Amino acid sequence: MKKITILVPAYNEEEALPFLYERVSKIMNEMKDYEFELLFVNDGSKDNTIEEIKSLRKNDERVSYVDFSRNFGKETAMIAGLDYSKGDCVIIMDADLQDPPELIPQMVKLWEQGYDDVYAKRKSRAGETWLKKFTSKMYYKVLQSLTRVEIQKDTGDFRLLDRRCVNALKKMRETGRCSKSMFSWIGYNKKEILYDRDPRIAGKTKWNYKKLIDLAIDGITAFTTSPLRISTYLSIPTFLALFIYFIYIIVKCCTQHVAIEAFQAVILLILFFSGIQIILIGIMGEYLGRIFNESKHRPLYLVNEYNGEKEMNK
Ligand code: UDP
Ligand code: MG
Repeated sequence: MKKITILVPAYNEEEALPFLYERVSKIMNEMKDYEFELLFVNDGSKDNTIEEIKSLRKNDERVSYVDFSRNFGKETAMIAGLDYSKGDCVIIMDADLQDPPELIPQMVKLWEQGYDDVYAKRKSRAGETWLKKFTSKMYYKVLQSLTRVEIQKDTGDFRLLDRRCVNALKKMRETGRCSKSMFSWIGYNKKEILYDRDPRIAGKTKWNYKKLIDLAIDGITAFTTSPLRISTYLSIPTFLALFIYFIYIIVKCCTQHVAIEAFQAVILLILFFSGIQIILIGIMGEYLGRIFNESKHRPLYLVNEYNGEKEMNK
């Protein structure tokens, strides 16, 4: 019998978990041809999420959990879930029921047909602000323009991954993680299904605009070094302009015998070039920071408990 892991990263989701379990367990019970593992990754929640998960596990042995030593973020929670998953395929889902579990049978059917990565694409996004929709649309555009790898639009982390995709993702141990681009990068046989994204069932979203901007910058710098090329592109017209201006001054001085107003030109030039330099240093700093983080070779996450057993970090 094939085993399916349903992976749910959870951070402060005590209110949503009972609803989630109710709907997911119904689906699991209906699909009798498969074994299931409902794997929660408790991402250092500050509420009673872990107690909630433990009590679910008491009544249902299909439930298992990884408990982090602190909050590491959803990206890290997902790779931890992939590390601990036992299934022949893994379905990643949010805890807040924004990803409807009712799509699971359809995903599994496509997986059985031979697709390796069945991802759910949002037709609509109820309960999200105009600004969030707009920024996310622009973000996809920028990301796609920077890379040859095809990025799936309006797609979150809600997807089914075959074991070989999971194993491929497990080999990618970088610290600055951007799953969206990693899912694209691994390739394999992809298939989209469409769905309406529901508003979250209970609790509050953990995102704010600072987190979103950070994620966007991480996403771009983790994925491509093409921003570094901005300096190359900028330097060409800059030098050209400088050269033309230089010739112009020389010719003017020689032919008209006038003194140039040097201080104005100098001030403008200083302002112009220091502006450019600041931007470029910023971009380089982004990558330098990234190299710094990767070169530490730290583990991606630390686990407190796995299914009730203390993790000793041996
Ligand atoms: N999440 C997590 N760690 C975090 C933040 C969020 O594991 O630091 C989980 C959260 O519990 C949920 C999923 O990631 O299952 C998506 O989070 P949320 O619903 O807050 O994001 P949104 O749907 O608003 O993008
Ligand atoms: Mg959500």
